[in-house]
Amino acid sequence: MKKPNTLVLNKSWFPVNIINWERTMTLLSQDIVTALDREMSPYNFMEWIEFSDLIDDYPTVKTTSRDIAIPEIVILSQFNKVPKIKYRYTRDRLFKRDNYTCGFCNNKFKRSELTIDHIHPKSKGGETSWTNTITACKKCNWKKGNKTIDESGIKIYFNPTVPHWTSPLQHYEYTSILNSWKSFMKV
Ligand SMILES: [Zn+2]
Repeated sequence: MKKPNTLVLNKSWFPVNIINWERTMTLLSQDIVTALDREMSPYNFMEWIEFSDLIDDYPTVKTTSRDIAIPEIVILSQFNKVPKIKYRYTRDRLFKRDNYTCGFCNNKFKRSELTIDHIHPKSKGGETSWTNTITACKKCNWKKGNKTIDESGIKIYFNPTVPHWTSPLQHYEYTSILNSWKSFMKV
């Protein structure tokens, strides 16, 4: 089974990252983060190891001497700035950036009905990048075809930009979100 990821909070309890269990364990053992249980009580590494012996409803990692629970949430011990997260371009993130709305007719669609449109067409050297692509419904994408905006006479409703989500939870797949993370989703 795939081990769960861990939500990282800064000292102001603001979500700043989502990391895998290996990184979580490394940061915890180096005292860079403190683990939180589901009641949001803090534990340093040694305390967390002891706590792990008392609980059995967390996924664990095996070490030579014992099983250690993987914390669902950790909080940074010092660093308090919100690090800027650079988002790699993906289809899902593009749709999310555009709020599942077609840039050419401004209507909202289901994910399965959406396509990616290259504003400057790919066939004419247009890049697949945040600023050259926009979410389009199938009908609008077909209408625009391989034409540029000028050639097609189509209107763009919003400008494609590089997304600046401040919380990693804003773009995270909803199905992978743990219950204990949900109280941090409104920020
Ligand atoms: Zn459309």
